[in-house]
Amino acid sequence: NVIENICILGATGSIGTNTLDVIKRHPDKYQVFALTAHRNLEQLKLQCIEFQPRYAVLPDAELAQELESFIQYKGLQVEVLHGVHSLDFVASHDEVDTVMAAIVGAAGLLPTLAAAQAGKRVLLANKEALVMSGAIFMDAVNKHGATLLPIDSEHNAIFQCLPEHFVEQGIENCGIHNIVLTGSGGPFLKKDLADFAAITPDEACAHPNWDMGRKISVDSATMMNKGLELIEACWLFDVKPEQIEVVLHPQSIIHSMVRYNDGSVLAQMGNPDMRTPIAHALAFPERISAGVAPLDFMEISKLTFDRPSKERYPCLALASEAMKQGGNSPARLNAANEVAVQSFLDEKIGFTQIAEVIQHTLTSTEYAEALTLDSVLSADKEARRSAQDFVAQLTNHSS
Ligand code: NDP
Ligand code: MG
Repeated sequence: NVIENICILGATGSIGTNTLDVIKRHPDKYQVFALTAHRNLEQLKLQCIEFQPRYAVLPDAELAQELESFIQYKGLQVEVLHGVHSLDFVASHDEVDTVMAAIVGAAGLLPTLAAAQAGKRVLLANKEALVMSGAIFMDAVNKHGATLLPIDSEHNAIFQCLPEHFVEQGIENCGIHNIVLTGSGGPFLKKDLADFAAITPDEACAHPNWDMGRKISVDSATMMNKGLELIEACWLFDVKPEQIEVVLHPQSIIHSMVRYNDGSVLAQMGNPDMRTPIAHALAFPERISAGVAPLDFMEISKLTFDRPSKERYPCLALASEAMKQGGNSPARLNAANEVAVQSFLDEKIGFTQIAEVIQHTLTSTEYAEALTLDSVLSADKEARRSAQDFVAQLTNHSS
């Protein structure tokens, strides 16, 4: 019974802390090899005390220095590293078996790719990395024999509903009709459209079913999250956007479904708790406990479904179009969205302007086939610049 070494990229975030919560229930199976964070030094200190990893990584040199002093003061055996390359270093370290990719946004791309190139078992929460790099990432996984397991609850659900041989045979040869991607619709499912412009960051981050980081919470409110997930599903399961049906399901009990040609529909259900997909992917193909409350059907009493409205969720169509266009469009979409969401959280733009910034960026930056990592990174950079400029224009107009 060998203990697996786990590296957690983004340990201080919502997915990172949920991962540690599952891991600590199974000390006979998993040990923490490396933890990485960005700004939350206090949380990382506590995690170093509790999990005593071999490495703790912070991109910022000053924060790393502060952590180093703390580690010495406490007499812990933790090596502190800094700089973005240290993220790649721990993600691809020889002694690491599994990498939880849980950094938010484009910042996670390079270390997640490094884990894939090192042939690791990669638990993917960082959907933005796959959205940006698509084919490049999937090629790296295949070429280096990495194992890719989805953490995003919908993709984890789909993975659980697919037959084991789907990777070798392809979806079409498994008698599958399509994939049904469910989404709650976020906190503004029923809100009057006339009141959308006045939505505040705190309102947007108050998701009815899930407790998540602020960026993905805003993405859930605009349903860009579902758009990014549609793109993520296309790459993970090798399907086209036309083969994915997005269905609103406000209770977040069914996490997604697979429709077969014989009329069967397989669904994965569970309480909305990320520890379920995390535990599934950590242990796959085995099953371990996750500390999640059992699903109480009498308590739920009913499950409902609906069609997402185009007026309410313009970001969903923007994402689907970007995927159909292909090339660097998903990378430009993602970059514009990251800038727009941050600008909204900083109260520089309004909620409805998020979609405007993305649309404007997609039309004012250049389409390219984007077959290399460099071209993806330059499309990301150009789209960020363009989105920032447009945000500045919007801000000047309103003040
Ligand atoms: P959080 O914002 O809670 O956490 C993000 C993590 O990434 C933190 O550890 C943060 O460090 C770190 N980080 C942020 N910026 C950088 C950077 N520039 N360089 C290095 N590290 C950085 O996000 P979530 O945990 O909610 O989400 C993480 C990923 O998982 C996202 O891609 C999200 O879409 C995906 N996901 C999340 C779900 C959820 O339920 N939360 C569900 C499905 C997918 P620090 O805190 O120290 O600043
Ligand atoms: Mg999801």
